Amino acid sequence: MNNRNKQQERKTLQQRQQILEKIRHEHAQQQTSYREQALKMFPWVCARCTREFNTKNVRELTVHHKDHNHDNNPGDGSNWELLCIYCHDEEHSREIQQQCELEQAEGISKPTLAHSPFAALKSKLNQRS
Ligand SMILES: [Zn+2]
Ligand SMILES: [Zn+2]
Repeated sequence: MNNRNKQQERKTLQQRQQILEKIRHEHAQQQTSYREQALKMFPWVCARCTREFNTKNVRELTVHHKDHNHDNNPGDGSNWELLCIYCHDEEHSREIQQQCELEQAEGISKPTLAHSPFAALKSKLNQRS
């Protein structure tokens, strides 16, 4: 690889980081706006454990997306569910577990790699090069 290529590579890396930065920023903005909307719309109660919240502990109440698509934010709140941080964690760890089981059943990834998606990715990358 010559110097010119190296420079170009560095430039695209920088650009990529800038884009990532931008996405992260937009995501943070989005998160606050739909969270505020959801908190205005729904009673401050966890939909799973029915724990009630007030202004002192409302930061432990999070917005969960029923279809797990964070970009799907209909104005009527039909894709949102208020969950406390514990139930929210629970909800997503179950989702990941299901995903693993599904992949195993379909034979997408070998059982030994099921809990390490990056290991699978790495072996794929190694195969290519
Ligand atoms: Zn809860
Ligand atoms: Zn969620």
